[in-house]
Amino acid sequence: MGVGLEGMARRAVFLDRDGVINAAIIRAGKPYPPASVTDVVLLEGAEDSLARLRERGFLLVVVTNQPDVRRGTTQRKDVEEIHRFLAAKLPLDDFFVCYHDDEDDCACRKPQPGLLKQAADKYNIDIAQSYLIGDRWRDIDAGAAAGCRTVFIDHRYNERRSRLAPDIRVDSLSEAVDRILQDIEPRSHPLRNLKVKIFADGANLAEMCDLYRNPIISGFTTNPTLMRKAGVADYERFAKDVLGAIPDRPISFEVFSDEFEEMERQALKIASWGDNVFVKIPVTNTRGESAASLICRLSGRGVQLNVTALMTIKQVLEVSRAMSACPAGYISVFAGRIADTGRDPVPVMREAVEILNECGNLELIWASPRELLNIFQCDAIGCHVITATRDILDKLPTVGKSLNEYSLETVKMFRDDAIRAGFHIDC
Ligand SMILES: [Mg+2]
Repeated sequence: MGVGLEGMARRAVFLDRDGVINAAIIRAGKPYPPASVTDVVLLEGAEDSLARLRERGFLLVVVTNQPDVRRGTTQRKDVEEIHRFLAAKLPLDDFFVCYHDDEDDCACRKPQPGLLKQAADKYNIDIAQSYLIGDRWRDIDAGAAAGCRTVFIDHRYNERRSRLAPDIRVDSLSEAVDRILQDIEPRSHPLRNLKVKIFADGANLAEMCDLYRNPIISGFTTNPTLMRKAGVADYERFAKDVLGAIPDRPISFEVFSDEFEEMERQALKIASWGDNVFVKIPVTNTRGESAASLICRLSGRGVQLNVTALMTIKQVLEVSRAMSACPAGYISVFAGRIADTGRDPVPVMREAVEILNECGNLELIWASPRELLNIFQCDAIGCHVITATRDILDKLPTVGKSLNEYSLETVKMFRDDAIRAGFHIDC
């Protein structure tokens, strides 16, 4: 890159360091930097992901807060040694480091945009055409303050999130790169700009495998009703087949006992089937007794949960409190069923988003959608996930379609059906 481009502003990807290109050290759910170069572990696929960005002409600049130097727990030479190591292993152009702490009130410690601005000045970077990839609120806020597009890698840390919605939310660096490369395609498509994650709701293994190949599908949910309809007879066999085929995206499987003690045993068993398993627990049993204590116990035992069948804000508050120790979890509010009662689900969902954004470890699922438009309603209010059944997913190709073209197709459909039916009117 660079040949013939001297003098032109370049676009860059600003990369946070720990948790973005190398693994952060996790203690009590919070990320910390590796103390020295011997503790540095590159994240899987980092080299390949960065190479893909560089191929497309992006300058790759690390922007990192290293306050432990100011705090006296790390030496600057150790940080610099880590950067020499990273520069040798990965296609990176430069490192901009803030060694201050909050009390220094500097202009470079993220969420301040100073590091990005220093890099932009040095390399003539067009910030508005650039991206920041980060895993913490300080990164997202710094990127937004500088004026670039922000990509949040969600490692589900036990800490607060940015109050600013990132432009793109993903689960890994490679996914971040996929989304950036899609984003710079010149054609505009409404699906490309969605922040909401789409989970496919289903219980047909072949269909699930098919959807797994579609990058727009970020996860899967199942439920006993769908499994019964799909003819699943052996629950555990089915779950293991699914997990064998889909090892790296979240999948929810539901308990089916009506007694909390038995539910707990089922939940622990289901959780043991895979790291990407989320155990679905209904908000109450069939007697209407709250599952909150069970949810609290399972959360404390480190089980990833998806608490389901909620419809009220009171339930969201109770369940989110019960899930405070949960390593990562979803709360499924049945927006479609709320709509079936003649109530607009959007205000309830918006309030639920605000509650869960305060939690850090939880995401809201818009469950039981009724139409494709719900994906866009969900996205507009910052709801994290929507589950969609096959009938809704099948309509995705019509997103953005010309209404004139669609109108004409509709007229033709009526005409063709009348001819096929052999209708005639004597006149
Ligand atoms: Mg980080």
